Amino acid sequence: MTDHTNDPTLESWVKGARDTDFPIQNLPLGIFSTSTLTPRAGMAIGEYIVDLNALYEKGFLDGLNLSGNVFAQPVLNSFLAGGHTRWSALRRIVSDLLTEGNDTLRPHEQSVLVPQSMAHMHLPLQIPDYTDFYSSMEHASNVGKMFRPNMEALLPNWKHLPVGYHGRASSIVVSGTDFHRPCGQTMKDGDERPEYGPTKQLDIELEMAFVIGQATDMGRRIPTGSVRDFVYGLSLFNDWSARDIQRWEYVPLGPFLGKNFASSLAPWIVSLDALEPFRVEGPEQDPEVLDYLKTSGAQNYDIVLEVYLTPQGGEPSLICTSNHKYLYWNIAQQLAHHTVNGCPVSVGDVYASGTISAPDENGFGSMLELSWKGTRPIQLKDGSTRTFLLDHDTITIRGYCQGNGYRIGFGEVTGTVLPALP
Ligand code: CA
Repeated sequence: MTDHTNDPTLESWVKGARDTDFPIQNLPLGIFSTSTLTPRAGMAIGEYIVDLNALYEKGFLDGLNLSGNVFAQPVLNSFLAGGHTRWSALRRIVSDLLTEGNDTLRPHEQSVLVPQSMAHMHLPLQIPDYTDFYSSMEHASNVGKMFRPNMEALLPNWKHLPVGYHGRASSIVVSGTDFHRPCGQTMKDGDERPEYGPTKQLDIELEMAFVIGQATDMGRRIPTGSVRDFVYGLSLFNDWSARDIQRWEYVPLGPFLGKNFASSLAPWIVSLDALEPFRVEGPEQDPEVLDYLKTSGAQNYDIVLEVYLTPQGGEPSLICTSNHKYLYWNIAQQLAHHTVNGCPVSVGDVYASGTISAPDENGFGSMLELSWKGTRPIQLKDGSTRTFLLDHDTITIRGYCQGNGYRIGFGEVTGTVLPALP
């Protein structure tokens, strides 16, 4: 059977789908519930969600040869564990059912299509482990210039390996989950003792995360050429950061409590299959990387990324426009490096890119960089300014690949800062 899923001319009978983030060429996976439906798997189409549990129960997914109903579960892990062949088969079957001219689902429209406006989105994964990389050269250079002005902007290892650290899966929340300003230790220059209290430098990090759909056993390496068998897809990610806590704690072992109070994941995971037409070459890597990190062909993705800041009761201001394609290290290199020592990966693992900063200053992916360490306040539409986030500020990240007459969108990841708890 020919695969038409990425055909740009394909139209759905779901009205208006082409004009949204979720045309028939996308079909991202998520977990949703409504006032009457328990959490279950769905695929976004236009302003609706295809209820995969309903499709399964009606027999429309029999072609997947599943041994049980993985779509009735409140996370995607069991479905993802089925592997790449099954991921592609599901997208092909649903694409076919939603294609204009195919009337198979029309008699069932009311029971298989749920308006997104009526749905509550859930964290789509049970996340065993979370790793955060540091793969944007622009971001790493900016941070180096700010904090180590008398040294080379990049440390000697940076261009030889994708630097990363192990984060906490326990504080990853789905878009729309608000959180309290974290408290911790900070140390002012010249003071003798640190102080304790709410962070005064709460920041964002514009990132994208990839999601693992196939596990490995301990000891096994994933070569760069096999990464697409292990990665289901990409999602938007905001790695909220407390810069003052981070600065005091991070030497010698790296990020800790300045990072692990909250990280926000978008509810929709866009498959690498849907992103295939948007693969582009990444930046040239010089010096040459070691053999196990070599890749061939286009490994980056042309994904426009936007960050909006909305003050309480105010309107959104666009504060950053960047792109996934600027990443120096690509996902194949990140996963190959992560497993080169035999570290196993699990289904549902989340691997974030690190802050994705563009070369120009309107595309810096954190407020630390946008305000250049607080020295250049960011102007908002209402006339107010920010260096770091105030209580009740909302941050929304959006992303999309621009096709010819359609977009493969990622929806949004959003969150609001609540005042620190007493
Ligand atoms: Ca980060």
